Amino acid sequence: MSRPLVVYPGTFDPVTNGHLDLIERGIQLFGNLVVAVVASPSKQALFSLNERLEMLREAVRELEGVEIESFDNLLTDYLKEKKAQVILRGLRAVSDFEFEFELALTNRRMARTVETLFMTPSLEYIYLRASLVKEIAKYGGDVSPFVPKGVRNRLAKRYQMK
Ligand code: ADP
Repeated sequence: MSRPLVVYPGTFDPVTNGHLDLIERGIQLFGNLVVAVVASPSKQALFSLNERLEMLREAVRELEGVEIESFDNLLTDYLKEKKAQVILRGLRAVSDFEFEFELALTNRRMARTVETLFMTPSLEYIYLRASLVKEIAKYGGDVSPFVPKGVRNRLAKRYQMK
């Protein structure tokens, strides 16, 4: 069987070291990966789609086998367009489980041949979420342990401007 095409979807508002950990694990396992950025997330994003894409592209510059794209339709339709079979998602703590479970089963109803796979990041990233990083940056805290340098700089600029 040929290698499946794997899509890792998310808001990436902004990309964190936890996302990067998962991207690296995905590449190790599958050889390649498409990171698919949700163009219009249901929650208002801090960064525009272009900014989120730019930060991701910069963060994966040295990784081979990863493509960054965006999509603005139903995830399962996007997968069909790409002929991709696998959705990769991250499971951090138990708190992610219910939402992710619901999402995976809903996506299966929409596209029977698509499988959702879950991976867990390194322990150090298990409690890392983009919303927390934004909160820390907003109050002038140091986010350098959590995000790549380019993201840290953008967060600093964004919150200085306000
Ligand atoms: P977040 O949940 O941080 O706002 P996204 O919507 O961009 O991020 O999430 C995309 C996917 O990445 C989801 O499956 C989410 O569970 C996963 N993810 C987010 N942060 C981490 C992390 N620190 N470790 C592993 N997976 C993560």
